[in-house]
Amino acid sequence: MADDKPAAAAGRRIIPIAPAPAGKDMVSLYEAHRKVYPRAIRGVFARWRWIMVFLTQLFFYGLPWLQWGERQIVLFDLGARRFYIFGWVLYPQDFIYLTGLLVVSALSLFLFTAVAGRLWCGFTCPQTVYTEIFLWVEKKIEGERVARMRLDKEPLSAEKLVKKWFKHIVWLGIALWTGFTFVGYFSPIRELGLAFLQTRMGSWEVFWVFFYGFATYGNAGFMREQVCKYMCPYARFQSAMFDHDTLIVSYDPGRGEPRAPHARGETQGPDGAALGDCIDCSLCVQVCPVGIDIRNGLQYECIGCGLCVDACNTVMDRMHSPRGLIRYTTQNALAQRGAATALLRRVLRPRVLVYATILAAVSIGLLASLVTRTPLKVDVVRDRAALSRIVAGGRLENVYRLQIMNATEATQRYRVAARGLDGLTVSLDDDPVEVAPAQARWVAVRLQIPYGSAPPGSHPVHFDIGAEGTATQVSEPSVFLVPR
Ligand code: SF4
Ligand code: SF4
Repeated sequence: MADDKPAAAAGRRIIPIAPAPAGKDMVSLYEAHRKVYPRAIRGVFARWRWIMVFLTQLFFYGLPWLQWGERQIVLFDLGARRFYIFGWVLYPQDFIYLTGLLVVSALSLFLFTAVAGRLWCGFTCPQTVYTEIFLWVEKKIEGERVARMRLDKEPLSAEKLVKKWFKHIVWLGIALWTGFTFVGYFSPIRELGLAFLQTRMGSWEVFWVFFYGFATYGNAGFMREQVCKYMCPYARFQSAMFDHDTLIVSYDPGRGEPRAPHARGETQGPDGAALGDCIDCSLCVQVCPVGIDIRNGLQYECIGCGLCVDACNTVMDRMHSPRGLIRYTTQNALAQRGAATALLRRVLRPRVLVYATILAAVSIGLLASLVTRTPLKVDVVRDRAALSRIVAGGRLENVYRLQIMNATEATQRYRVAARGLDGLTVSLDDDPVEVAPAQARWVAVRLQIPYGSAPPGSHPVHFDIGAEGTATQVSEPSVFLVPR
């Protein structure tokens, strides 16, 4: 109040700050979450979704259990810094292949999105796949959509408790198995299984099994469509890859509107106005895993799963109307009502052909370089402690350390030679250098030239390392220093 007096004296009005009353005019910045209860549906897209669930999970859960000779077929051994993929042993120096793989993945995503929108999201994304599996478990235990909605509204009872507990136990089982499989790509899975049974898993392995497991449990059991709507960046930038010739799931308003509930064969409403094909049954909304109404037009939440297509086709069959009121089509085709052949011609547009050509070129290049890859890596490091010295016999010597990495699965014996200066000789403690399968070894190598045979300065030389009994040969550059 003491502060108000000078303001009042100056003729200024004081407006007190008071909290706004909570009432119906309040607008929340956050939308209240509505749980989505997707209804099960049969149809072409539903079947394809299950085929993709089966194939992706067969691959993910099954692959680490397969053997390649004495070892796991795919193993990312981070501790030893080796990646074993089928017959290849990759070292950190092979990082270029990982880069190539990422480029191929990105280009594939661009291509498939340009052709058919969010195919990845609707059919193969792990979030979609695990949500589908968790939903299947939920349906088996709690019943169909209406039963699940009723159960959630019911007060707590013994039956509800048993169903909920059972569901969560099964979910946790799947989630932890997923976490275990994930860790099995980085730590030999058979030994990991044995360690798990004997409760002697390492602390990092336990951490990652539970971390990945709970991420699966949380994302597929609770977050579900919210991951796609609010967390996934792909949903945000996909529109940059869409154009009016991209195949997307669309409702045909020209055919469906005006919508109204009506019986089979009815073409006019009670007021005599013509009726569209949509009977406003809302089945397309009930089956949608993200809970949207595709009749409101293209929405960023739509993952392109096609379940609303299956649902609406079922309704159209019952109404004896042609299928395809909701269908995979393009915005141009919908606007121009063009024929299917014209639509396909537009799908194969220059942008798609450019993506496809680049993708094919990069994939072929990557595959060719992997197939023709030399299974030997060599790093040359100059010995900084002894740059250049004169040794017995009046010769000038430079010392190097060579890391020889055997990227085969058999013991190899390597010969080291050098070239680039007159009278250059090589000496090693071990010759040939024997390196165990998929192992690396450091060796000291001394290069010598007759003193005075080269002028002072830095001279380029090359190390040639070859595996005995094979055509494998690697050449690595370095320099030979001659002091003043
Ligand atoms: S609108 Fe249709 S295609 Fe899009 S997410 Fe929903 S059910 Fe799938
Ligand atoms: S399923 Fe088909 S008929 Fe039913 S509301 Fe959706 S668009 Fe209309």
